[in-house]
Amino acid sequence: MAKSERCPICGVPLKAENLRRHLDDTHPRHPGTPALRERLRQEGRFAPAPRTAPRVRLRKVHIAFLAAVALLGAGAYAVSPFLVPNNSFSIDSCIRDPDVVYHIHPRLSIFILGNRYPIPYNIGVTATCTRPVHTHDDGPASGGYNPSTDPAIIHVESPVARAFALADFFHVWRQIFTPTQILTYANDGTNVVSMTVNGAPSTAFGSLVFDDGQDIVITYGPAA
Ligand SMILES: [Zn+2]
Ligand SMILES: [Zn+2]
Repeated sequence: MAKSERCPICGVPLKAENLRRHLDDTHPRHPGTPALRERLRQEGRFAPAPRTAPRVRLRKVHIAFLAAVALLGAGAYAVSPFLVPNNSFSIDSCIRDPDVVYHIHPRLSIFILGNRYPIPYNIGVTATCTRPVHTHDDGPASGGYNPSTDPAIIHVESPVARAFALADFFHVWRQIFTPTQILTYANDGTNVVSMTVNGAPSTAFGSLVFDDGQDIVITYGPAA
């Protein structure tokens, strides 16, 4: 039968074998607790039992927390299409300047048999609608481009942060771009469509995701 003791910190009567647990539960941060724990350990009066119960409880709390976060996340995901005002937004939507939260400027050049193909101003811009992917009609003096000598500056402006691809630009332009055809120029055994992105060959073609400052070059000419 274990002898009775008192807690040296609060004086409450305890069984000796319960002193360690009492210290941990009641005085975990008392300045005297570490020294008492050490004394108990050295005296071998207390085998430091693994505190499995609290540890399991902690894990349950963690699991409950993670489950709650996952549920909230899933809920927000399920509900978000009904909260976002632009839930029906697409490449064919018109944008309004005040709504634009995402605005990047990739550059595009098209070379046909060695000559720069001029990419027009105001692709995707009419008096009543500006598409999320478009070109502007401002020249080099106002930060724009000269279609006959410069890469076109493509404006990607969107009320939702989402990826736009090179195919979106050709969709708005109503021109053909596939791995085997650019505009009216199709692979013919001599000349082929090829593409570089920031100087490196790419086979992404229309699926290339636009990035700010990207330098995209589409070439139709003799196969390398
Ligand atoms: Zn714009
Ligand atoms: Zn812009």
